[in-house]
Amino acid sequence: MCQTCGVHEFNEEVNSLAQEILEYSLERLRLDPPLDHPRTFEELSELVGQTITENGLGGHEALRIFKEILARSCISTDHPRNLAFIPAAPSEYASLFDLVVAASSLYGGSWTEGAGAVYAENQALRWIADLAGMPESAGGTFVQGGTVGNLSALVAARYWARREIPGNHRWTIACSEEAHSSISAAADVMDVAVLSIPCDGQGRLTGVQTKISIREFEKSNPGHKVFAIVGTAGTTNLGIIDDLVGLAQCAEELDLWFHVDGAYGLAALASPRTRDLFEGVAEADSLIVDPHKWLFAPFDACALIYRDARIGKAAHTQRAPYLDPLEDDGLLNPSDYAIQLTRRPRGLPFWFSLAANGAKKYQEAIEHSLNLAKECAEMIRMRSDLQLVCEPILSIVAFTKQGWRHEDYVRWSDDLLAKQIGFVTPSTHNHETILRFAIVNPWTRRSDLELILGTLV
Ligand SMILES: *Cc1c(COP(=O)(O)O)cnc(C)c1O
Repeated sequence: MCQTCGVHEFNEEVNSLAQEILEYSLERLRLDPPLDHPRTFEELSELVGQTITENGLGGHEALRIFKEILARSCISTDHPRNLAFIPAAPSEYASLFDLVVAASSLYGGSWTEGAGAVYAENQALRWIADLAGMPESAGGTFVQGGTVGNLSALVAARYWARREIPGNHRWTIACSEEAHSSISAAADVMDVAVLSIPCDGQGRLTGVQTKISIREFEKSNPGHKVFAIVGTAGTTNLGIIDDLVGLAQCAEELDLWFHVDGAYGLAALASPRTRDLFEGVAEADSLIVDPHKWLFAPFDACALIYRDARIGKAAHTQRAPYLDPLEDDGLLNPSDYAIQLTRRPRGLPFWFSLAANGAKKYQEAIEHSLNLAKECAEMIRMRSDLQLVCEPILSIVAFTKQGWRHEDYVRWSDDLLAKQIGFVTPSTHNHETILRFAIVNPWTRRSDLELILGTLV
């Protein structure tokens, strides 16, 4: 890097390390990764021991430890038979470009420093905003994950509410009982209350119920004021989409902020087949979707979009004498839209993949998951010992096995990983243990699902 000072010189040793790192990275991308498994702290202490030393291990040795032990002690989230939680499936283009982002020391907080990167990120955000039907005024930024996205959106919502509804209120967020845990985590951070509203028979939060619940709640809890409704567009457990049309209407009538948490599910806006399921999302005041979940980007990236970018900016802009030079950048500083200042342009791998592959490939990859989920449901229906919890709405298939108790599911799950066949973890629905396959990986095949289902005996 620095030719004269010698400190960062790309000397022979660095060169050979570069070779080794690139070879490892490319091989990791090229081949199906082994699934791997966690090791205990004691095992790792035994195998790795202390790595931070006075004089350093040297690049080759540190890399060897990583390749041989540390990396093998992490479950491969992009393995085609990793269907646990919501796994990952970054496209080759996205992962490769993450190497470029890492090599470029790009500052993604301000337009002044990162104009080119921010321009590209904003096109990727616009692609999502257009799919959601958001107006021209929409804008936002990529943050670390859905949790920070939800928090940042709700902070903007409260900023807006404080301005619109003066008074000393106990601010409250209304959401469904099935809303993601990050909503109540955000409420804790913000020191606001949560009104948890029961779902209908299909697990959806409806506009009608929400209106009734909010009115009752405010009447019986003087001083409390609901300022935001959170609709979930694809619950994490089952992929259920709330009644977004009804919620938007309710928010409009009661003059509340409407936030849509689509961390997993809003990716399915990319397919015309599922787009209608999200009707009403165009009315959202803010939304989030995680490209690291079902939009084929590496960790960690959440797209946070405000209907009116100016509100996000007003709520989040940090002010200080040393930041004054950035003020002229108008609506273009990503740091102004969330709880963040310095940021890597974490949306760039997603942008690159989208730009290189084109939107149609995204549609096809999403539809692959949708089709596979349908086929999987069919396979489960053919088995008398397995029962679907519900028809898959997006790409999550949830089911139970007749006669199994919680311990049986746990034992099966541990065994599946121990045998390196797959990674599927039990969950709970209506106080009952269930299994769920979260299918987001374009490299997951029907045969992978057959293999896993075949072990359920
Ligand atoms: C995953 C998820 C989140 C949290 O996103 P992170 O990126 O893990 O922080 C929030 N909401 C829903 C609906 C999710 O599925």
